[in-house]
Amino acid sequence: MDELTLLTALHEQGDRQGPGGDDETRLAITLSGLRQRSALRIADIGCGTGASTRVLARELDAVVTAVDFLPAFLARLEEIAVADGLAGRVETLTAPMEDLPFDDAGLDAIWSEGAIYTMGFANGVRAWRRFLKPGGILAVSELTWLTAERPKELTQHWLREYPEVATAGAKLATLEDSGYAPLGYFPLPERCWLDNYYRPLQARFPAFLDRFDNAEAAKAIVAAEREEIALYERNRAFVSYGYYVARRT
Ligand code: SAM
Repeated sequence: MDELTLLTALHEQGDRQGPGGDDETRLAITLSGLRQRSALRIADIGCGTGASTRVLARELDAVVTAVDFLPAFLARLEEIAVADGLAGRVETLTAPMEDLPFDDAGLDAIWSEGAIYTMGFANGVRAWRRFLKPGGILAVSELTWLTAERPKELTQHWLREYPEVATAGAKLATLEDSGYAPLGYFPLPERCWLDNYYRPLQARFPAFLDRFDNAEAAKAIVAAEREEIALYERNRAFVSYGYYVARRT
């Protein structure tokens, strides 16, 4: 069993596949000003099973294209969207975020929670800009330092895993340099990590290990997740996801 199959199996039953919260998605929508607009076309890139997609479809007069490269996540999103009565407002698209099939200037907004790191923040915001109408909205959450100084173990871990991790000031400057006017930034509170993501993930570990007969590869995945959770718990004052909302200039 390869690692991606195991990771998909562990995460597909989750409500979300990264830190976040419905209240925080709603706050980003408020900052975006999109509630005042109608007949919107929105893409939610790296949507997973669609926690943010469903909030967007519920709150806005929009059709939301939910994009991910894992069909299993999109299949789960389709089931939930039907159960929630959102089927007509959500479309799914299996595609890599590096090569999206959207027309230039075709979208009113691009959303992406906890996924742009795959392309790198600077690379991603520059590549996706052309899909937005002038004045269109970009809303992304991205790993962000909350303080100028941090414990060494935290800095070393994230510089190794994601060298683009930086403070909000640096991320906002990247947005300005890339053809966006920032409209707002806020850091995700701890409950977005602990209550909404890590605790439900931890609760799935026993059934996941059982399902794969305690295979070494499955145990290694659980061990890595446990390490990441412990690292966050020790260092929660210094790092979070920042939510960035900006307008294409
Ligand atoms: N936005 C979701 C959430 O917050 O619950 C999922 C976040 S999860 C950390 C990152 C998501 O990006 C996963 O669903 C993963 O399958 C997707 N992803 C990773 N690399 C991708 C790529 N190159 N193209 C499209 N999707 C990708």
